[in-house]
Amino acid sequence: MLRLSEIKLPLDHPEAALRQAIVAYLGVPDAEVGSFTVFKRSYDARKSTMQLIYIVDVEVADEAALLKKFAKDIHVVPTPDMSYHFVGQAPSTLASRPVVVGFGPCGLFAGLILAQMGFRPIVLERGKKVRERTKDTWGLWRKNVLNPESNVQFGEGGAGTFSDGKLYSQIKDPRYLGRKVLEEFVKAGAPEEIIYVNKPHIGTFRLVSMVEKMRANIEALGGEIRFEHKVTDVLIEDGPTGKQMRGLVLANGEQILSDHVVIALGHSARDTFEMLHAREVFMEAKPFSVGFRIEHPQTLIDKARLGKYAGHPLLGAADYKLVHHASNGRSVYSFCMCPGGQVVAATSEPYRVVTNGMSQYSRAERNANAGIVVGITPADFPGSGPLAGIVLQRELESRAFVLGGGTYEAPGQLVGDFLAGRPSSRLGSVTPSYQPGVKLGDLSSALPDYAIAAMREAIPAFDKKIRGFAMNDAVLTGVETRTSSPLRITRGEDCQSLNVRGLFPAGEGAGYAGGILSAGVDGIKVAEAVAHSILKLA
Ligand code: FAD
Repeated sequence: MLRLSEIKLPLDHPEAALRQAIVAYLGVPDAEVGSFTVFKRSYDARKSTMQLIYIVDVEVADEAALLKKFAKDIHVVPTPDMSYHFVGQAPSTLASRPVVVGFGPCGLFAGLILAQMGFRPIVLERGKKVRERTKDTWGLWRKNVLNPESNVQFGEGGAGTFSDGKLYSQIKDPRYLGRKVLEEFVKAGAPEEIIYVNKPHIGTFRLVSMVEKMRANIEALGGEIRFEHKVTDVLIEDGPTGKQMRGLVLANGEQILSDHVVIALGHSARDTFEMLHAREVFMEAKPFSVGFRIEHPQTLIDKARLGKYAGHPLLGAADYKLVHHASNGRSVYSFCMCPGGQVVAATSEPYRVVTNGMSQYSRAERNANAGIVVGITPADFPGSGPLAGIVLQRELESRAFVLGGGTYEAPGQLVGDFLAGRPSSRLGSVTPSYQPGVKLGDLSSALPDYAIAAMREAIPAFDKKIRGFAMNDAVLTGVETRTSSPLRITRGEDCQSLNVRGLFPAGEGAGYAGGILSAGVDGIKVAEAVAHSILKLA
């Protein structure tokens, strides 16, 4: 099979045009070209005439001859092997079953791959099954009632369940593990297009049923998923060669023994981070970002990004990605942009306010939203040590709770007022989507001064790239503090903790992923590392 890239066609091309373009490019009779599949479809929005750009994998009659003919053409190469190969199979007798803590995308894929290899993993998740969790999450959004163990961050499916469901990442992926993640999602009910469109997304509702199907798959393969099973302690033994993981203690007092434990906790499991730190598991503070969510009319973004093609069904609601390097040395960038979506209340701790964004598959809501965040480093954290970033997050989230009126409403301000340095008292043309509500005022005390200064510089700069971005009526809500983990539970080449053998820190919380796809990929890598470790022992 041959891979052809940079096949460009007009946006509204007839279906047959793609085959014609392939045949024309190869310069062979049509009969010598067999079936083909689209590996990737993207579009070039910068051109005055919008074009679709394809990468296709094509069956041809004489592959060797064509490879010779196109030897100097980087757009014609053999199709790489993208299939997933398991690193091994579990032995028929297993001394102890591996345990995965956390059932977000990372834990889900670690569990799935271990189950597919026959290791019958036990997955422990502090939150509830996804349907029950949905009710609790809506409890905060609709009734101002937070359940600290069942919310946007905690429960089946992890943090990405109530999200935009963006499924792309910039990680290097030479083994096409991201494709394995997407293929499993398709098997669980995601639309097939996620395999080939450039920036796939699935939205919240589909994720809910997909997660259920994947859970059933793991169980059918002999795995076990225990909800409302929070890990509160680790059993670590000191041996002649160092510390060794021996098992876990749950909130109900139960002990689960295992020499292979994956911890895929997500970035919000602060109590569990504290426990692991107290047990001297090596971890270190790492940079993350803080900021606000910004909301504009989606039509404004569509017009700025897609011009006359705005509203075209193939393009959907437009997104954006923006970066500005401010004169005070800070980088400001857009984060987790959700076209046609809504801003959501994303705290997992009482008396704190955190924003994030989500959408449905249709991305049909009125507003576009994105985090506008400023990079911070451990040098900015109050105090030192691995947990210092959490101290800052808590401080900012508590301040936002107070600024929002102490009812889980988010503090907000119009962009025009924020830039002019005056409090807001009335909404304009943009109605913010955050539930349970927005309390207008002055956001300048919600973040450190350097972050406010950098954002005041960045928003007008972004307006030069997206006309109208700095519109007076756009709404800022705060605070966005859970952009990534504030710490790293550092691991070695073998994916094991630097100082505890048998402990496999994984996913976003451990500092090895950022987003659903990369967390899933990391879950696969860590499952493979667990298999390697067990098979060497067996
Ligand atoms: P998580 O998904 O956070 O999962 C960790 C799990 O561990 C949780 O279910 C938690 O309950 C459990 N856990 C924690 N502590 C314990 C314990 N002590 N015992 C047992 N279980 C425990 N990313 C994208 O790529 N695209 C998006 O569109 C997107 N939108 C988002 C929207 C929102 C509102 C949020 C909050 C996040 C969004 N993200 C998005 C980020 C994405 O969700 C995360 O990057 C991803 O979920 C990280 O996966 P993970 O498995 O590492 O951790």
